[in-house]
Amino acid sequence: MSDTDPPETDADTLRTPIVAVLGHVDHGKTSLLDRIRGSAVAAGESGAITQHIGATAVPLSVISEIAGELVDPTDFDLPGLLFIDTPGHHSFSTLRSRGGALADIAILVVDVNDGFQPQTLEAIDILKRTETPFIVAANKIDTVPGWRPNENSPVQQTMESQSERVQSDLNENLYEIIGELSDNGFSADMYWRVQNFQANIGVVPVSAETGEGVPDLLTVMMGLSQRYMKEEMAIDAAGPGVGTVLEVKDTQGFGTTLDAIIYDGTIRADDTIVVGGLQGPIVTDVRALLRPRPLEEIRTEQTFEQVDAVAAADGVKIAAPDLDGAMAGAPIRVIRDRNRSEVIAEVESELAGIEVTTQEEGVVVKADTLGSLEAISSTLEEEEIPIMRAEVGAVAPRDIRVAETANEPTHRAILAFSVEVLDDARDLAEQEEVKLFENDVIYQLIEEYDDHVTAIEEAQQ
Ligand code: GDP
Repeated sequence: MSDTDPPETDADTLRTPIVAVLGHVDHGKTSLLDRIRGSAVAAGESGAITQHIGATAVPLSVISEIAGELVDPTDFDLPGLLFIDTPGHHSFSTLRSRGGALADIAILVVDVNDGFQPQTLEAIDILKRTETPFIVAANKIDTVPGWRPNENSPVQQTMESQSERVQSDLNENLYEIIGELSDNGFSADMYWRVQNFQANIGVVPVSAETGEGVPDLLTVMMGLSQRYMKEEMAIDAAGPGVGTVLEVKDTQGFGTTLDAIIYDGTIRADDTIVVGGLQGPIVTDVRALLRPRPLEEIRTEQTFEQVDAVAAADGVKIAAPDLDGAMAGAPIRVIRDRNRSEVIAEVESELAGIEVTTQEEGVVVKADTLGSLEAISSTLEEEEIPIMRAEVGAVAPRDIRVAETANEPTHRAILAFSVEVLDDARDLAEQEEVKLFENDVIYQLIEEYDDHVTAIEEAQQ
């Protein structure tokens, strides 16, 4: 065990809001996260940055150092912001807490030159469905013709000079984004004109490349969280920990481990936990709670230090026996002084909490996690495509047996999202003329299926 003190565990404290980054591929999600992490490391040389698993915590002191006079730490009582390290709406919809989204707030990254793209729209649908407040980061402003870097740190300026500074080309692109947001049912405006960030979407021009606008983005998010989300951040910090599995992976020396975010209470190194698994809840004893060693670069996770306890909201690697069947996106709960079967029942009901309506006739959907299964199913429901079976896991021969019972030719299909297709299932599908669709991007998967339906319908005419 390390000699670091266990976290403070006063009851009724406020936890850190959890932030996810979404957007179309190549619009700059990873670069923006890297830039935020980089700014935090640069500003926090005094030692304020701690190492995490699966998420980067930017404490209030560091945000106020980056944002200058716009963030006065005495105005805030939330501890900072916790950014989920894996960007993308796939991970967002996978990561759930108590049936909702794990992230409290999202950054939707949109390339100012490229505008709204299919995955931008997909992300917006997910944000709407989960009622997650979000801010738009209009990224890559440095690539807009006529752009000149801002001499002063952006947030040091008045809002008026900010808006004057925005050149016409950039302006045009930014208003196109605002227009797209309004076409999708959101009232949106440039962030310096937005009064209420809960009712209106603020658009923040940024460059992940130069860092311009990043302080503004952090300021807006901190303000939004503090003003509108404070009540949701109240936790029982000393209580039994509640969290979500980010990833199940092999860690040298520890076997199968869970990368997890604890969003309520505290998990201790001697706790018994219940984890959601493919075959139902797993009850196991924590063997070790792990963090990257303090002096290692953020995101390298070769060696770990063991800690006694981790309190919400924070990322941690959990080593324990019997984790092989654990599932990304599944709940984790500490039993401690609670009734064991009650905790198991809670995990069971969270696992069953997915709402997919299946029918006598329809397609078969297989996905890697409950969250993605839910996202695909709700898109199919919107398109009025019936579903006969929706399950987490690899495509197996029995799935083909189900699909071949469909009466409609368009329903003799399996939509497989980010899962393996077993060899004998593939052979059987070919033999029984069941069409297999495999993709790791939801909209592409559904597009491929839609094209197939169109082709069948045209052939029938
Ligand atoms: P992701 O797929 O959304 O995670 O996008 P990435 O972060 O991987 O970025 C895609 C490409 O755009 C990379 O080549 C980045 O270097 C580049 N990029 C991202 N942000 C910016 C930016 O603000 N300015 C410029 N010029 N390039 C950027």
